[in-house]
Amino acid sequence: MARIGSSVSEAARLLVRGEVVAIPTETVYGLAGNALHVEAVARIFEVKERPTFDPLIIHVLDLPAAQNYVQHIPKPALVLAEKFWPGPLTLLLPRKSIIPDLVTSGLDTVAVRCPAHPLAQQLLALVDFPLAAPSANKFGRLSPTQAKHVEEQLGNEIPYILDGGPCPIGLESTIVGFENEQPVIYRLGGIAAEDIEAVIGKTGLQLHSASNPRAPGQLTRHYAPRKKLVLGSLEELLKHYPAHSSGILSFRKDFGLPYQRLLSPSGNLREAAQHLFLYLRELEAMPVDVILAEPAEEKGLGRAINDRLRRAAATTAQPHTYE
Ligand code: AMP
Ligand code: MG
Repeated sequence: MARIGSSVSEAARLLVRGEVVAIPTETVYGLAGNALHVEAVARIFEVKERPTFDPLIIHVLDLPAAQNYVQHIPKPALVLAEKFWPGPLTLLLPRKSIIPDLVTSGLDTVAVRCPAHPLAQQLLALVDFPLAAPSANKFGRLSPTQAKHVEEQLGNEIPYILDGGPCPIGLESTIVGFENEQPVIYRLGGIAAEDIEAVIGKTGLQLHSASNPRAPGQLTRHYAPRKKLVLGSLEELLKHYPAHSSGILSFRKDFGLPYQRLLSPSGNLREAAQHLFLYLRELEAMPVDVILAEPAEEKGLGRAINDRLRRAAATTAQPHTYE
């Protein structure tokens, strides 16, 4: 069973030995291993039951460290890194050959991020390699935002969970890549698309899909709770589903029902994002047959929240064998 503790040096000691450990980041908990050590990377895929065609993000201390692993950084990427690192922004950059194929699923770009969480920063300062760290959950399931969520799913398979408290952002990073130096958002996440566009101008958006099995963060069904989830107007849905055996994920309205969670009573998108995975987790554990959820306002972090809810609600899983 994994030990849970707050010793950065213990986490570093295990990572140096080639083991994988769960670490806190400001987005969600990551399952970390030495990104330059193929056995450690293979162990990440094994523990997560993640298909190897789904590439991993490498985590580095800062921009100079990132430069060790990428061939060059296009101008808009540099501007974004300077503005948003450390923080929930992942950049897809042309990789150096030191990065193993297994990390990138054979792609010629590598996903790089500089996490802001103080314990992740301390850990990265202690080790002399980048950390490959996908979310510390079984493939396709809800991302963990607390150490105990990691313990529930992966506790039997890893030696240590570095506990940094609840994740302050609660959503995965925003992923930005470049096609002919033109920025494209591949995953909506902890930094709003509007904030990115405010810095580098108009970006493309390429979120789907089933036709792109290389990037399952983009799979139609992902981030899925164990119960069926239906997305729509709660007032409408409650005309069709029994109120007393349905879990309700409302944005701010209190329906006075037994199994409900309010993402943000004050209507704050940041607070809603921070609670999203926790509340889905709590709702799936309640004695309900279905979870009814309403979308957030389609702006800022609301777009990233809605992206997760749509994937959680999708009925087609690709590949469904991993559900
Ligand atoms: P996770 O680590 O669970 O947050 O998922 C990381 C996601 O990053 C993957 O599912 C992909 O969607 C994306 N990703 C990582 N590396 C690349 C890459 N080189 N090209 C495109 N997408 C990538
Ligand atoms: Mg994930």
